[in-house]
Order: sequence, then structure tokens, then C-alpha cells
Amino acid sequence: MFDPQSVAAAGERLRAARTISIVSHERPDGDAVGSALGLALALEAAGKTVTVALADGVPFSFRHLAGAERVVSRGNPQADCRVLVDCGDPRRPAAAWQPDWPVDINIDHHKTNTRFAAVNIVAPEAVATAAMLAELIPQWGLEITPQAAEALLTGMLTDTIGFRTPNVTPQTLRLAADLMARGADLSELYFKALVARSFEALRYWGQGLSRLQRDGGLVWTSLTLEDRKISGYTGNDDADLVGYLATVRDAAIGVIFVEQPDNQVKVSWRARPGWDVSGLAVRFGGGGHAPAAGATVEGTLAEVQAAVLAATRDLLTHSQDSFNREGEI
Ligand code: 5GP
Ligand code: MN
Repeated sequence: MFDPQSVAAAGERLRAARTISIVSHERPDGDAVGSALGLALALEAAGKTVTVALADGVPFSFRHLAGAERVVSRGNPQADCRVLVDCGDPRRPAAAWQPDWPVDINIDHHKTNTRFAAVNIVAPEAVATAAMLAELIPQWGLEITPQAAEALLTGMLTDTIGFRTPNVTPQTLRLAADLMARGADLSELYFKALVARSFEALRYWGQGLSRLQRDGGLVWTSLTLEDRKISGYTGNDDADLVGYLATVRDAAIGVIFVEQPDNQVKVSWRARPGWDVSGLAVRFGGGGHAPAAGATVEGTLAEVQAAVLAATRDLLTHSQDSFNREGEI
């Protein structure tokens, strides 16, 4: 599945290093947190000194994972080995990493990955970076400890939305079963990472849902700074609401616009099988996968919404014979 030379080269760099800095993307999801912590815990079990850096810290849903309390906000460019996980490009860690700092190892599954490191292990067919690591860690002669298994299973669970995405294969479930056998409690991790949410998050959803709009196969809404104030939601993300937009029957693409301070809007697209929104995200300066992509766009909520909705409508109308339409639904 992975290029054997890259796997060996990455293993060699990790083996030779005493200090290792692992970094993942801003507004981390379960795969960012799970991959970074899973790899860190396995390396620590082998005697390495490891730090994990996430610009925005660890979201509440993943704070039960071992090592979450030690996560720092800036990577260490002076570490013997510098690893970016689940990052399509070196700007993804935001404040945790300068894009021009050298990266030794890039482990990722984004189709839009720019192969920015000395050693790149990129597998767009992988369901999660954590799933890649569940295979890579043993190949490097490292042990997946019970706590590392919990972190990796969390990454697999969140990126597959509980094994519901169409890229899930028998091998995905075998890897997950293996992590369970190593001590990870599936039902507990599932509840904590994907089901449980705060009262404030549900009220925040309510703000967004009350303005839900539809035009043909396109369903969208926005979340404003004011919505966060009204609901008491303290994050700067969509609290996972976007995942529900494309579940509307007959919807093809769901889009959410999350107002940010400093005249920026975080845009997230979710598409039903057969549609590819990653190209749209790249066009707006972001990236991602065919069914899930995002970008942070400069402008007011109204400006960004107008531009993004026009481009997304265009994709929906002209997709019949376009490369953006992948086979049959
Ligand atoms: P979300 O919309 O939930 O933030 O992200 C959906 C997918 O798109 C994730 O795999 C995420 O890593 C990717 N993504 C989101 N925003 C960006 C971005 O600004 N740049 C890149 N390269 N990928 C992004
Ligand atoms: Mn991922």
C-alpha cells in the first residue's frame, strides 16, 4: 500500500532521532489529534522524547486521550525529527509551524497533499491518517500500546464518521479490530468522539439550523460570531454541524460558512458519494477530500457566501460531463 522506500526512510529518521516534534493541523479533528498522539505514544514507548503541537489545542471530545494534557501550541523546528501528520500542506498547522521550516516526514491521506517533506508517505485511499499509522507503526518495529490504540481508533472513527463513509473496506475494519484487540474500547471512544456534545453546541446548531437554506441539490447555512455569543459555544468551528447538511434527502452538497474574527470565513463542504468538492476547496485556497473539504477565505460572511455558493452551484450544474463528477452515485 505504501512506497516501501519511503516507509524505510521514515523509519530510519525516527530511529536515528532522540527528540521528535509531531505537528498537525489547526482546528484539529479526531484524526489530527489521534494520529499525532498515537504516533507520539508509540515513539515514547520506544524511549523517544516527543512533543505534540496543535495550534488550537485539543478539543473537549478528544481530551480523554492519553497525552492530550501535554499538547503544546508550537512545534519545535530544532527537534531531531519533525513530523507533520494529517496535513495536506505545510500551512495547515497555522501558528504551530512556519511553512518554510523543514519537515522530515509528511504522513497524510489528503488527495491535495503537496509533498512538502523530505520523506512523504501519502495515501489518498486511506480512510484516515490514523489508519495509515496503524499499519506503519508496526512496520517501523514500534509497538501500538493500548493508549496509542485508543488514539488511532479515535482518528479512524472520526474521519469515517463511525465507519459510515464509502471508502471503508474490510481492511479498515480489520485494522480497527486489531486496535480493539490491543485494548481500545470502541463503544466508549465512539460515544466520546462522535456522539456526546455540549448543551452549548446544540444551541449553536439551533442558530445555524434555523437559517438552513436549500437550492436544488445544495444545502447550506452559516454560523456567526453572534451565534457563538448567544449560544455560549466557545469554539471557532461549526461544532460538526456541516456533517448533517448533506444528509438532507436529495441533497448532493452541503456547505457551511463559519464567521471568524479578522474578516475571514471558514468554509466547509460535504458531498454525497459521487461528488468531489476537493477541487472547489483548492480554488478557494484550501483542500481536502472528494466528500469533505474546507478552506479559510478572506472577506465578509456575505461576500464569501456569494462567491462560494456561485462556484458550488456551478459544480453542481456543470458536473454531468466534468471531471468533478466521479462515476455513478
Ligand atoms: P473541515 O471542513 O471539516 O475543516 O475539513 C474537511 C477536510 O478538508 C479535512 O480533511 C481537512 O483537513 C481539509 N481542510 C479543511 N480546511 C482546509 C484548508 O484550509 N486547507 C487544506 N489543505 N485542507 C483543508
Ligand atoms: Mn484525516
